[in-house]
Amino acid sequence: MTTLNERDAMICRACGNEERASEGYPCVKCGTFICVICNLRGVVTCRACAKDEVPASK
Ligand SMILES: [Zn+2]
Ligand SMILES: [Zn+2]
Repeated sequence: MTTLNERDAMICRACGNEERASEGYPCVKCGTFICVICNLRGVVTCRACAKDEVPASK
């Protein structure tokens, strides 16, 4: 039988999805888990840090 219960799963702090920790990235500010899907979309900070961040030059 195959064990699908991976201990590797973590909750992404940007989108809230449960994704593989080994495929994710840490938040550039606090180091919490960000999934690879968010990272591909250009999200490099968790929701809390993004909220904290003031939209600068644009
Ligand atoms: Zn995510
Ligand atoms: Zn963060």
